[in-house]
Amino acid sequence: MIKRYPTKKIYVGDVAVGGDAPISIQSMTFSKTRDVKSTVEQINRLHFAGCDIVRVAVPDMEDALALKEIKKEVSLPIVADIHFDYRLALKAAEVVDCIRINPGNIGSKERIKEVVKACKERNIPIRIGVNSGSLEKEIEQKYGPTSKAMVESALYHIKLLEDLDFTDIKVSLKASDVQRTVEAYRALRPLVPYPFHLGVTEAGTMFSATVKSSIALGALLLEGIGDTIRISITGELEKEVEVARAILKHSGAIKEGVNIISCPTCGRIEVDLVKAVKEIEERLKHIKKPLNVSVMGCVVNAIGEAKHADVAIAYGKGSGLVMVKGEVVAKLPENKLVDRFLEEVEKF
Ligand code: SF4
Repeated sequence: MIKRYPTKKIYVGDVAVGGDAPISIQSMTFSKTRDVKSTVEQINRLHFAGCDIVRVAVPDMEDALALKEIKKEVSLPIVADIHFDYRLALKAAEVVDCIRINPGNIGSKERIKEVVKACKERNIPIRIGVNSGSLEKEIEQKYGPTSKAMVESALYHIKLLEDLDFTDIKVSLKASDVQRTVEAYRALRPLVPYPFHLGVTEAGTMFSATVKSSIALGALLLEGIGDTIRISITGELEKEVEVARAILKHSGAIKEGVNIISCPTCGRIEVDLVKAVKEIEERLKHIKKPLNVSVMGCVVNAIGEAKHADVAIAYGKGSGLVMVKGEVVAKLPENKLVDRFLEEVEKF
């Protein structure tokens, strides 16, 4: 299990973020928030997919006013995403569970005070969301488009809240560039106690977003950095949650579900391994318990892998072995192996 960086625990609705809380998964709706029906439908789809916290865009008052109706229909905690207009933040703060706003961008000190007061009254946190594409002009001029600029921007917004004695804060430092994202989170981590929301922004479509997010979030999570995560994927909803869960699982942040080790196949193969692995993957989807299984195309590496797996198959020519904890429990013809293997998995 990874050793997490100690952070302050805050609450977004009933979901704890930071401290010893599990790393939560976030996503964002893409409907117009004022379209209550579509937004509720998307939030419920995300909930069903395993999302913990959902963010909705609130670009104008019609969207802010719709939040009350939306909250009545859903049980996932909602973060209202607001830029610049403090009146939207005040309206949203009446009903949502967290406000995403950068205090330095909303104008006078009085306005910041009002937003902080509204959040304090309802005991809801503020997420400071630094994005490399919209840094403050002076900071960008001084440091250029760098991770240093992102960190300076975060510190600037954090100080504005701290000066008003507000510390229910979480912070994100997103860039579309993987390296800059990682550098920024690493640099800020020792400087503030607040939980981090991890993400690579504008990460692209499924393939590119998965690769970029796996590299950036994987590196950070393995260092113990990160308290809540979002994978931004163009045009996907449930997939964001699926990829997030896989990243948490393979970085060791959560232990759940079946981890399938299967060989890539090569010229030694004598069976249709691709078909077998696909069938196994499909039939093991429902299992939540953490389990390692290996499905290997020949004996070259199969015995070694089987020793580390809970249940394994080693295919040969027309037949193969089923192994449990490295011990052979059956030698069967090829067409009987998958069923027997799955029987052994179910016993766990
Ligand atoms: S386990 Fe066998 S079939 Fe699979 S890649 Fe290795 S050598 Fe090739």
